[in-house]
Amino acid sequence: MFSFKKCDGCEKDLQMGSAKYNVRVEITSDFDGFLPDYEDDEDAAMCSVLDHLGQMSAEELEQDVHLEAEMTLCKACRDRLVDSIEGLRDEDDFEPKSKCRANLH
Ligand SMILES: [Zn+2]
Repeated sequence: MFSFKKCDGCEKDLQMGSAKYNVRVEITSDFDGFLPDYEDDEDAAMCSVLDHLGQMSAEELEQDVHLEAEMTLCKACRDRLVDSIEGLRDEDDFEPKSKCRANLH
């Protein structure tokens, strides 16, 4: 019995020849060295950071700094993902490749 790949978003069977998308997500922490709430008191800032780290598990900490995920999605889930990315960016036209094109000029 041949088993189909399933969509990682909705568990739908991805039939042979149907539209499916491989998605790779990588999130890395962007730390600029600035701690907004404690700029006047470096000791307090360090304590706060250490407290915060102490409350997180190693796995949580790792995911907070670097999260990588790969999945296969059906078209509907892929469209939902793109929609939510568009929402995050709060722009009318979301064109991931526009930067690359600009560099060609
Ligand atoms: Zn799906």
